[in-house]
Amino acid sequence: MNEILDYLINFQPNDWMGISLRGIFVYVFVLWVALVIWVARDVVGRTKNLVFQVFVILLAIVLNVFGLLIYLIIRPQKTLIERYHEDLEHKALAENEELCPKCEKPLPLVFQFCPHCGEEARQHCKKCHKLVSKNWSICPYCGASKTGKAK
Ligand SMILES: [Zn+2]
Ligand SMILES: [Zn+2]
Repeated sequence: MNEILDYLINFQPNDWMGISLRGIFVYVFVLWVALVIWVARDVVGRTKNLVFQVFVILLAIVLNVFGLLIYLIIRPQKTLIERYHEDLEHKALAENEELCPKCEKPLPLVFQFCPHCGEEARQHCKKCHKLVSKNWSICPYCGASKTGKAK
């Protein structure tokens, strides 16, 4: 306790200046580094382009807040994970699903009836017995027409 009192009594105003300047310096430095780290992590999650990544990180190191503003304007809209999921959805829709002709909800190719509205969207081919959309004029698997005759 006495040590602290001594310290306070003998304290010189110049020391305050030194300490607060150092405090501000450390504070700014930590913010600076944190911002660079944030930008680095964000850009790695948005693009695989190494040149762009390095450019953006340098921008953040040199210009800091202004670099961040520039980055926020030019960065890709979506993260790689978001784009990956979107691609998956599109592929799933294109490869494995059609839309129900009545309610237009996704309908997996293995379904005969729409689970949402009960519409009979597909019928079994009379020749090969695979499920065929009612809209198709022939069976895409065996080539039979709707009447069951081979083409
Ligand atoms: Zn439906
Ligand atoms: Zn068929």
